[in-house]
Amino acid sequence: MEIFSIRDIDIDNKRVFIRCDFNVPKDEFGNISDDRRIRAALPTIRYCLDRDCKIILGSHFGRPKAGEWNEEKDSLKPIAKRLHSLLKMEIKMANDVVSDDTIKTAQNLQEGEILLLENLRYNPGETANDSEFASRLASMADVYINDAFGASHRKHASIFALPEHFKKGEKAAGFLMQKEVNFFDKMIKSPARPFVAVIGGSKVSGKLEAMLNLVDKVDKLVVGGGMAFTFLKALGHEVGNSLVEDDLIEDAKKVMQIAKDKGVKFYLPVDVVVASEFSEDATIKYLPIQEIPQTWMGLDVGPATNRLFRETLNDAQTILWNGPMGVYEMDKFSKGSTMMSHYIAESHATTVVGGGDTADVVQRAGDVDEMTFISTGGGASLELLEGKLLPGVEAVLKSRA
Ligand code: AMP
Repeated sequence: MEIFSIRDIDIDNKRVFIRCDFNVPKDEFGNISDDRRIRAALPTIRYCLDRDCKIILGSHFGRPKAGEWNEEKDSLKPIAKRLHSLLKMEIKMANDVVSDDTIKTAQNLQEGEILLLENLRYNPGETANDSEFASRLASMADVYINDAFGASHRKHASIFALPEHFKKGEKAAGFLMQKEVNFFDKMIKSPARPFVAVIGGSKVSGKLEAMLNLVDKVDKLVVGGGMAFTFLKALGHEVGNSLVEDDLIEDAKKVMQIAKDKGVKFYLPVDVVVASEFSEDATIKYLPIQEIPQTWMGLDVGPATNRLFRETLNDAQTILWNGPMGVYEMDKFSKGSTMMSHYIAESHATTVVGGGDTADVVQRAGDVDEMTFISTGGGASLELLEGKLLPGVEAVLKSRA
């Protein structure tokens, strides 16, 4: 998948619109609780500053509905402050997205100045992929750069309609976007083997397509988390009140059959932490999967499973991890996920982590620096694993642009 890189085009002294993904989490006091996505955008911004560009930054934040703008909750002003402290320079904050005033400010930027637009979703044209809105955004800049991997699976104006207004040589991917796409592309097309995919999380439904796409590309498929119970039930086990998607039992069987036909090793938990109810205060037991009581539910993988899963990783050269092994948000059910994070971090494989929850587990486990690559885009990385062409990637493909 060849995409234009910011390095491939001439940006010196130009007005550059950079679509960033500044959709960061905030705590209950409105403080940014994790600024990784902002820091991840800095290489591209600095590259433009070094080339005396006039920089316009655009991002969405949250999901404000058109007409329900909440200045305190949805504004990008806190992002401007964080950018200011990271870059140690003035960040001009626009009052809105595409008013005449804001367009004029963008057009009058001086070399080395940065203007941050307000939340793109403040304007209903963004989610509608509206070309009139895109053309107003386009009037601000000479060059379009997409560095918003986390938003690139959405056919929104700043991702899809906007680059249509730029010619070949005037649009490209930023460094973050390029890194994300290259990692996933290389991992799926030519991984160092053995290639092990560890898939967890709540439901089969969210990850079925990704599993179907991956199952004949990996050497081992390890399944944990809530979704494992649909597979266990498909094999005839009693899973009590554990999370099960009955309508996907046939699909679960299909995944296991493909694995068998292709010689892919398939692993499920052999024991679980069961609880009497979905609560931190629940009574718990460690039981083999053959012994789950009818009224109890499995909320984490058990100690024997941890050892088994560790064995599966021993000879891995590439490991993909998407989805926690249990309800990691509650301490009592976080061990399987924490151990998995440590095992992957300790391995000598190329390790790729996808999905917001999984990245959160890695962060809590203190393993961030040990992973080869942690994706900044949950939905976008999942769609890449499903084998889809993301609208944001399509817009800067060498074969298309
Ligand atoms: P996903 O968004 O599909 O990756 O799922 C992540 C969520 O799965 C987390 O919030 C976990 O709490 C949840 N989860 C993991 N294991 C289980 C389980 N055994 N039962 C219920 N929820 C689970």
